[in-house]
Amino acid sequence: MATSQKGRVEKLFIGGKWVPGSADGYIERRNPATEAVVGRVPRGTREDAKAALEAAAESQDAWAALPAPARAKILARTRDILEARKDELARLLSQEQGKPLHPEAIGEIEGTIEHFDYFAGYGRRMEGTVVPSDYPDRTVLMLRLPVGVVAALTPWNFPAAMVARKLCPSLVAGNTVVLKPSSATPLIAYEIVRALEKAGLPRGVVNLVTGPGEEVGDELVRNPLSNLITITGSTEAGKKVMEAASAHVKRLVLELGGKAPFIVWKDADLDQAVRAAVFARFWNAGQTCINSERTYVHEDVYEAFTRKYTQAVKALRLGDPLAEGTDIGPLVSPDQREKTEAAVQEAVHQGAKVLAGGSRPPAFKKGYYYEPTVLGDVEQGWDIVQDEVFGPVSPLLSFRDFDEAIRYANDSRYGLASYLFTKDAGVAMRAAHAIKFGETYINQTGPELLQGYHTGWRESGLGGEGSRYGAEGYTQIKTVYWNYSGDLQVDYLFPYGSKAGRSGA
Ligand code: NAD
Repeated sequence: MATSQKGRVEKLFIGGKWVPGSADGYIERRNPATEAVVGRVPRGTREDAKAALEAAAESQDAWAALPAPARAKILARTRDILEARKDELARLLSQEQGKPLHPEAIGEIEGTIEHFDYFAGYGRRMEGTVVPSDYPDRTVLMLRLPVGVVAALTPWNFPAAMVARKLCPSLVAGNTVVLKPSSATPLIAYEIVRALEKAGLPRGVVNLVTGPGEEVGDELVRNPLSNLITITGSTEAGKKVMEAASAHVKRLVLELGGKAPFIVWKDADLDQAVRAAVFARFWNAGQTCINSERTYVHEDVYEAFTRKYTQAVKALRLGDPLAEGTDIGPLVSPDQREKTEAAVQEAVHQGAKVLAGGSRPPAFKKGYYYEPTVLGDVEQGWDIVQDEVFGPVSPLLSFRDFDEAIRYANDSRYGLASYLFTKDAGVAMRAAHAIKFGETYINQTGPELLQGYHTGWRESGLGGEGSRYGAEGYTQIKTVYWNYSGDLQVDYLFPYGSKAGRSGA
């Protein structure tokens, strides 16, 4: 990496070498708080993507041949390298993405390190299965094997944690990787790849290319050399990836958009529910896939909740992400701010009442800031309740009873995270079964990144990450039928080894 007056200048990482992009262009990254340039990365091309895939494919067999515990040791060393640079990395993350340094950027880097820690342990737990055969002296082994070359496409909202979420399970499983981070926040991914390089990762096992999703990402998805595509991003991009990957029927892990409902039952501790609802909505300036995007409050407590919630949102401190005490930083880009603004304007036009925020803060001359906003008098069918906003805007709605709350929550094409606050265990358990989302947080906020399976239902995705289920998504099962009797019988094994089948042969 070189540095200039215009921040750091990066290259591509292909086959263990830092190389310039095949074209001259660069993508510039600006700090969303100050609008100053933080760094530049090559505007990669399809040729660069192909070269990276070739390097990954060449390294595949040797990497897969290394025992999983040996692969895991490299993850453990990477964890230690990242840990030693934690504060510096959090600063870079905050500067390129805009999230407050304390506690959010530090927290994300810690979460990133935890991924390396968890999957380093996984190296000794890559378990297959042995099941009994129908016959004596035979066995059936189900081996967990690598899938091959993984194309990993990551978003801008958690540019460090999402990279770790894809690299760690891929590597421990014995896959090689071509990583393409979001062009909006590519810099922190470089630091994770450098840590892997320093930890002794063999050449070509991880490759890094930057560039537009529609070009570099598309080549990684379509090219026959990639075997598994894992993307965390918008539902729109996920659909395109799914379509492009279908030509070669590739394995897919799709972590897509969300529209989490946050339900406050009438018996909830309102102060706690308010604290949690504020965090769940405004954390990362509303740019988190599990952010609560619509809050449903029982009509008996709607007024009291709304009053406390609005007060708490007005007290949030918008400011410089590097300064102590800042609760909310800017949005990641001008586009994201305009999208948020347009969603609010449309809702207001439809009749929503602005209870807090509702515009750009006049005090900020630079940066892509938007006030934390609360909207009342909102209706279920409006776009603000149906479409992912991904900004600091909170529509509030009331409900009459349990069935209505569940109906509103499930009335969505998304199905990722959901929240419920209640003291009634019966309500909680019934809701846990009735809310058709991949995860429900009861009387708490998220995320819990590793032990649970993070999976989106409906248009929120396919497959998932975290836990053994997520890890297994980066492997494929090979079944071995093994006769060790020493007596070769050429049996007719249909129907499924029944006596009738055998004697009929
Ligand atoms: P995005 O869809 O614009 O991009 C994600 C990545 O995919 C980027 O690297 C991009 O360059 C690449 N890409 C885009 N189009 C592509 C294509 N046609 N072919 C190949 N690659 C392509 O997403 P974003 O704006 O960076 O991130 C925000 C979105 O991510 C939100 O919708 C959010 O809900 C979602 N998200 C989901 C999760 C989850 O776990 N489900 C987590 C974080 C973010």
